[in-house]
Amino acid sequence: MHTAKQIANFLKDHNNYIIIPHRSPDGDCLGSSSALLLALRSLGKNAAIVLPSPISHRHEFIWDSSYEKVDFKCETAISVDVAADDMMLGLYEEIYQKADYRICIDHHTTNPGFGSLNFVDGKAAAAGELVYQIIVELGVEMTKDIAERIFVSIADDTGAFQYSNTTARTHMIVSSLYDANIDSDSIMRKLFATHTVAELNLLKFVTARMEYHCGGKICTSYVDSEALIASGAEMSAADAWIGLTRAGEGIEVGMMFKLLSDNETRVSLRSNSYVDVSAVAQKFGGGGHVRAAGVTFCESYAEAKKKLLNEFEKLV
Ligand code: AMP
Ligand code: MN
Ligand code: MN
Repeated sequence: MHTAKQIANFLKDHNNYIIIPHRSPDGDCLGSSSALLLALRSLGKNAAIVLPSPISHRHEFIWDSSYEKVDFKCETAISVDVAADDMMLGLYEEIYQKADYRICIDHHTTNPGFGSLNFVDGKAAAAGELVYQIIVELGVEMTKDIAERIFVSIADDTGAFQYSNTTARTHMIVSSLYDANIDSDSIMRKLFATHTVAELNLLKFVTARMEYHCGGKICTSYVDSEALIASGAEMSAADAWIGLTRAGEGIEVGMMFKLLSDNETRVSLRSNSYVDVSAVAQKFGGGGHVRAAGVTFCESYAEAKKKLLNEFEKLV
């Protein structure tokens, strides 16, 4: 394990960085990757972000196409908020493995440490907390643009500072971001209180398809192509409603199934107070955090649901 200082020293001594967030990028990986990119560029370094899959409409407000401009040969690849190498999809083979150096910056407890330098801290609420520490060690000015991107990262992964991963350190970091005049209210509204019409249409399907199991301790819902066509939404819109699967009174485990095809089912797992969903996700080749994890099955919705219910029945 390496420290923020060691990572910062390495970054100062080298050049030509490609930053890779995870597939289906969320506010944490996009916010922390773009904050790191801006910090590296302010040091005069060549840096770019290469995305494994496109950003969603929700995060466009922190994005600029110039972030993705690669006009240099990559020397060091940096994964940010990537729990497992396959979450980079083909970029793992195309860029990460081929780089001279690999840095892994992450906060998933299940991360095996696949970099040559690993700054992995499962106690951090978001990868943005780790990138913040690196930027402090770099001695780069905390501009409004950088501070807002770190704010997006932390606000997103803590569910607006509601989840159990929120700590005193989270609040201390965020409090210092206010020194850069961040527009926190505008960011919070965009992240948590604004939805497209298609997303709202999809909500009807998500709630109508909720099923309760184990005396109301487990709730499942699913999104399939029928729901997407009828609502006009893309599969990423389902992410807005994952939290609702654990919102019912008395529910411990919530599961949102995304039916990608007849034999590919991606599942988002959430818990409220005592079940470790990352342990269950790991049993099936996935991973994540204690209260939020994910796994993809090369199987039908029915098969994936049966296997997960079988595991969670023993735990609730
Ligand atoms: P999601 O339900 O997709 O929002 O994911 C919840 C958390 O679990 C996120 O922090 C993801 O990065 C992580 N996660 C999701 N799928 C996987 C996987 N297959 N392997 C490892 N971590 C995952
Ligand atoms: Mn993430
Ligand atoms: Mn994260």
